[in-house]
Amino acid sequence: MPKSPQKHLDPRQPLVVDTTKLPRRPGATRALKRVVPASADLGLELISVPQGSDLELDLSLTSVSEGVYVSGNVRGSLSGECGRCLNEISESFDVAIAELYAYADSTTEETTDEDEVGRMQGDLIDLEPAVRDAIVLTLPTNPVCRPDCPGLCPECGVHLDDLPADHSHEEVDPRWAALRNLSKAELPKAALPQDPQNRIKE
Ligand SMILES: [Zn+2]
Ligand SMILES: [Zn+2]
Repeated sequence: MPKSPQKHLDPRQPLVVDTTKLPRRPGATRALKRVVPASADLGLELISVPQGSDLELDLSLTSVSEGVYVSGNVRGSLSGECGRCLNEISESFDVAIAELYAYADSTTEETTDEDEVGRMQGDLIDLEPAVRDAIVLTLPTNPVCRPDCPGLCPECGVHLDDLPADHSHEEVDPRWAALRNLSKAELPKAALPQDPQNRIKE
């Protein structure tokens, strides 16, 4: 059976785990505690793990009949930008990992898709995809500095926290108000085609 091409794993990569010392006897277990530098692009556009910051792996590897089960937690820090006020966000994360990696030529490897069950390459496991997924899936697509962040004043761009409660941009000059009313009245006419006849000819 042809195998899908796999990139060759480098055991020196921070998220590649060598299971040589884990006995291939179901139930055998080893702790994996490691602090590794975060790779680039670990996150989303507005919030991500700073490249090179500490990723703390607190995992256990357990031999099962078809492979190695990896479970535990990954911790680290996040930095980003509030989607409402653009203030810096700096917080920590703690995500759970629970992933089976099938031995090469095991029944599991033959009967499952690589997307469902991870693959071992010899004694090596690449944790990078699982760690990346676990982190990225917990990130908010629209992060906020705090749940009740009021954001910025849409008129002047100043943080509403820094403005008095009665802050407003109501024009006091009647000439501005007149101009505004005029442009509102002009708008619907301008949005219509100049000459409906022309459109029909097209
Ligand atoms: Zn904010
Ligand atoms: Zn304002």
